Amino acid sequence: MSQTVLPPPLISSALLSAETAVDLLNKTEQGIFVIQDDVYRYANPAMARMMRTSVDRVVGQPWDIFLPPQSLQHAKKTIERRTAGKEGTWGEMKCKRADGTLIDVRVYGRGIRFNDRFALLATLIDVSELREAVRRAQWNGQMLARTEALARTGSMEVECTGGDVYLSSGLLTLLGLDEAAQVGQLDALAWVPAEERAYVAGIWRAAVLGEPFEFQHRVDCADGQRLTVLHRGVLQAKGERGEVGVALLQDITAQRDAEQRIQELANQDEVTGLPNRAALLDHAEAAILAARWDDRAVVLLVIEVPQLRAIRTSMGFGAGDALAMTLAARLRETCASHEMLGQTGDAEFAVVIEVEGEYDQAALSQRATALLAILSAPVMLGSASVVTQCRVGAAVFPRDADTPTVLLESAQAALFDTGGESGIVFFSRDIADRAQRATRIEGGLRQAIAADELTLHFQPQVDLVSGTIRGAEALLRWHSADLGSVSPGEFIPVAERSGLSGAIGEWVLNAACRTLADWQRRGLPPVRVSINLSSAELQQPDLAAHVQRTLLAHGVAPERLGIELTESMLMADVNLAAQVLRDLKLLGVEIALDDFGTGFSSLSYLCRLPIDVVKVDRSFVHDVTAPVEEVSVTRAIINLAHDLKMQVLAEGVETEGQLSLLASSGCDHIQGFWFSRPVPAAEFEAMLSAGKELPEQ
Ligand code: C2E
Ligand code: CA
Ligand code: CA
Repeated sequence: MSQTVLPPPLISSALLSAETAVDLLNKTEQGIFVIQDDVYRYANPAMARMMRTSVDRVVGQPWDIFLPPQSLQHAKKTIERRTAGKEGTWGEMKCKRADGTLIDVRVYGRGIRFNDRFALLATLIDVSELREAVRRAQWNGQMLARTEALARTGSMEVECTGGDVYLSSGLLTLLGLDEAAQVGQLDALAWVPAEERAYVAGIWRAAVLGEPFEFQHRVDCADGQRLTVLHRGVLQAKGERGEVGVALLQDITAQRDAEQRIQELANQDEVTGLPNRAALLDHAEAAILAARWDDRAVVLLVIEVPQLRAIRTSMGFGAGDALAMTLAARLRETCASHEMLGQTGDAEFAVVIEVEGEYDQAALSQRATALLAILSAPVMLGSASVVTQCRVGAAVFPRDADTPTVLLESAQAALFDTGGESGIVFFSRDIADRAQRATRIEGGLRQAIAADELTLHFQPQVDLVSGTIRGAEALLRWHSADLGSVSPGEFIPVAERSGLSGAIGEWVLNAACRTLADWQRRGLPPVRVSINLSSAELQQPDLAAHVQRTLLAHGVAPERLGIELTESMLMADVNLAAQVLRDLKLLGVEIALDDFGTGFSSLSYLCRLPIDVVKVDRSFVHDVTAPVEEVSVTRAIINLAHDLKMQVLAEGVETEGQLSLLASSGCDHIQGFWFSRPVPAAEFEAMLSAGKELPEQ
């Protein structure tokens, strides 16, 4: 059997019987084989097993049967060299087993004399498992490094007793350091800023076995960057070298920066950079605490700038922000050290004043007036000059409130109580009551449309020449389930403040059109119904188109509709108002200027706007017994309006005396209790059908 063919030198050099020697070779776990003349002359069972074949199938076979192509070249050379007697060491290579699978082997070959000729004797060890384990370890290491790099983390091992620290390659990458820095000393880590080294080492030395801990510190990278890391560690076990722990260091610099930015944003107005509501309240709280100690007062002023809102709507956020920044800069400049300026809303600034010495209301009013004056200087926005009309509400600790929030709310309640007029209002008990009622009104109004609590009343407008009804003003009525009847004079301002006037205005427009369509259908004499617009509606740039769509939807001609607006609404943004009014006028809707005489604008200024009718306020409607100067003011208004091709309607005519004076002054139309109060639609229809007229003068 070829199995027993033994290389004679082996036997001759050992004091073994041939059988024993064969037995030994067959039993060894190392593969052993001999190659001569390019064929296998001998192979032991271990070698055959490694190659998943039998000894028979090896001996006599060509030398390369177990070599995959990539190993051929190298193997051939090595065999030649060793056969020629050149010494070598263990080498590793891949072999291809009989079943085609690959195996990693370590080989040691040397030249021998076999049958008196040179041959190669080789020893073979299967290292597949070892190689696989190494490959896995390498792969794991690479993955860890990659993961660490991605997560901007690194790890390290700490030997607390000796103080040795070993850095992972991820940590080296994070710090931008090379292998040389892999080992360090806990107390002298060069990449921890000097002033924080003792802190980092101290935490490790105080660590308790098995109890994870985390803290933040900074690290210096090779490129000079300073990062903040979250350092999580745990002392794992007592090893030969004392207690050993592992730590994960994560770069949280970006996160920290973001947190800081969020913190800033949380405390600052985004546009002006002023302390926001929360920050101002914090400050007020501190001021109140301090003031409590020595019986001093803290004043909170809120300053509302309605134009900020108006300009954002009409000219866009850029213009609004520019205005806010300019006003904030002016206020910042004037505020003294005992005053803290903040921004409590998109159109609201606030100042907390720590009163030094005695509280003096007169002095405070003066201060508020000075602030208003500073704000009211014109601001140029592009080519437009904007003049702000601000209102101030004030509340005082301890008189009006004893917490910062209530102090702010009280000042805001006082602000709302200015009734839209520019000026200063101090908080009072009455204001508190009104504010409470306003809150209930707002709550009720939010339900009013859905609950079907709104109706329109109609007050006839009469032509003084013909004596007939020319139309009606639609006046809103609200009967609240909770509050009973609430007058529009009370709920309209609340609606405007709480952003409800848009929805309410929409309801009024539709209700008016629906009524007009109904009258038209029922063949009543054609009249015009005028509705009151709110400033929010006027600020809708596409108002005219919207009105047109609504008219069309109801099948009502534009000539049947009129709108009433006040000067202050027009003045908030004259350019936008002019555009919207022109569009409405083009449609054929009549435009009336309401409450004329109560504002400050002159008619000649307003003549640039397409106004059809001037509604002279009730305060200009006098009786024949009135002093002559007052009567002449009314006449002058009527004459001027006529010169400007506008008609005049006098409001609030309550007596016959007023009527005759107006008629003799050339007034065109009147409206008032004398002819009729505002009445439900049915009553107005009855007047129309009956052809109610002014009695003959
Ligand atoms: P306004 O537009 O000036 O309406 C005229 C107000 O004077 C009405 O008060 C009317 O009832 C009242 N009035 C009419 N004739 C006389 C009179 O001879 N003597 C006196 N003393 N008063 C008279 P009302 O209905 O309480 O409305 C108050 C204000 O509420 C209105 O003033 C208007 O600004 C607002 N308003 C009413 N309805 C609406 C609406 O639908 N939308 C908007 N935005 N505001 C409305
Ligand atoms: Ca009106
Ligand atoms: Ca009016």
